Amino acid sequence: MPRSDVDVVVVGGGAVGVAAARRLHEAAIDCLIVEARPRLGGRAWTVTDSGFALDLGCGWLHSADRNPWVKIAQEQGAEIDKSRAPWARRTSGIGFPRAEQQDFQEAMDAFFARLEGRGESDDDVPAGNFLEPGNRWNGLINALSTYISGAEWDRVSAKDFDRYHDTGVNWRVVKGYGALISACGENLAAALDCAVQTINHRGKRLRIETAQGVIAADQVIVTIPSTLIAAERLVFTPALPEKTEAARGLPLGLADKLFLSLERAEEFEQDTRLFGHTDRAATANFHFRPLGRPMIEVYFGGRFAAELEAGGDGAFFECAKSDLVGLFGSAFAARIKPIGIHRWGVDPFSLGSYSYASPGFADCRPKLAEPVDGRLFFAGEACSVHDFSTAHGGWHTGVSAAEQVIAARKAPHPTSLRER
Ligand SMILES: Cc1cc2nc3c(=O)[nH]c(=O)nc-3n(C[C@H](O)[C@H](O)[C@H](O)COP(=O)(O)OP(=O)(O)OC[C@H]3O[C@@H](n4cnc5c(N)ncnc54)[C@H](O)[C@@H]3O)c2cc1C
Repeated sequence: MPRSDVDVVVVGGGAVGVAAARRLHEAAIDCLIVEARPRLGGRAWTVTDSGFALDLGCGWLHSADRNPWVKIAQEQGAEIDKSRAPWARRTSGIGFPRAEQQDFQEAMDAFFARLEGRGESDDDVPAGNFLEPGNRWNGLINALSTYISGAEWDRVSAKDFDRYHDTGVNWRVVKGYGALISACGENLAAALDCAVQTINHRGKRLRIETAQGVIAADQVIVTIPSTLIAAERLVFTPALPEKTEAARGLPLGLADKLFLSLERAEEFEQDTRLFGHTDRAATANFHFRPLGRPMIEVYFGGRFAAELEAGGDGAFFECAKSDLVGLFGSAFAARIKPIGIHRWGVDPFSLGSYSYASPGFADCRPKLAEPVDGRLFFAGEACSVHDFSTAHGGWHTGVSAAEQVIAARKAPHPTSLRER
């Protein structure tokens, strides 16, 4: 049973919940993370069953030159790998001749120039409007969107996409991004396996109903994914329709990773990239020898990933095997074995991988983050206007929500303690 009375409850122990709780802990505020899973980290999850640290969720310290998790990694003495990301290297010529790659690069650059050259006052239209009709590379340009946003360009708000700030510096934590984040939460008070079902904010104090009992608190920071707020998997009493509406504008796109062990891996250069197909959006992205390891990390996104999820874990392996056999011949099948996969779309505590804004809904991020009554605070990667969909963007929203709680508790007449 978790404690039944605390000052602040943080709902969700992912990157954001950990960041928020850490800040509250530093401010000596009595706080408890209440997490539905049996572990901290959420969509940051490193597994080591195969003998290697595999990040089934986030793996890249994006915008690493200003990413707060880099400092945490340094504090933990974790090794950081700064070698160039596969997408910043030349793609393998196998199945994708150099001349075609050049042609594709030009089409992609032209697409991004059209998409990103717009102003804040322009209409919020689907990013897909900026694809050149009939261009032979539209399929592959769409595939990139399924890796970046977890959705094809027609589903993605051009305005929201344009607001993302990327410094272009991408590093990795050798022990795993998930391991880094869960270790950061190790000394924080947390109740695991403890899904929050209802937050009743009618009375003088909040009544947080969980799978393991009721907790009374002054304030709560809600960090669960936008999909779960949209689907009302967590019930607010009275209801908060403005939150449900904001969350519905911010679905989670789908991206799934499959890890394969690879025999005689030395044949491939470290961090090589290769596509299963170059003429369509429904294609896997193969990353050979990540961190020099004898394996392949395969990325699937968007509608294609959703179709594969319906077929179970095995559908991902069959798809990857068939692509690799198509590229390298039938003997290749004997060199690979599946060693890790997670289907984030059917995971009940995420229902997707990372957020994008639907066209017309770019302004939902600050709406989702807005506090209610000085007692209910909201954070999570989907609340970040410029670094959404990432663990570092999430960090800032968690710390910001914690700062708001600290300020509310210092206020001379805290609204949090008002009589009703
Ligand atoms: C395949 C994949 C690849 C990715 N790659 C990258 C990358 O390279 N770099 C990057 O920066 N980001 C990446 N991301 C995104 C990154 O993982 C997320 O943006 C980040 O981890 C989100 O953190 P969060 O705390 O907002 O949400 P979450 O991690 O989802 O945390 C929310 C927590 O709330 C819990 N919860 C849900 N419902 C309840 C409830 N009712 N009661 C209590 N707890 C509940 C969940 O279990 C979860 O632990 C990737 C994600 C995926 C899936």
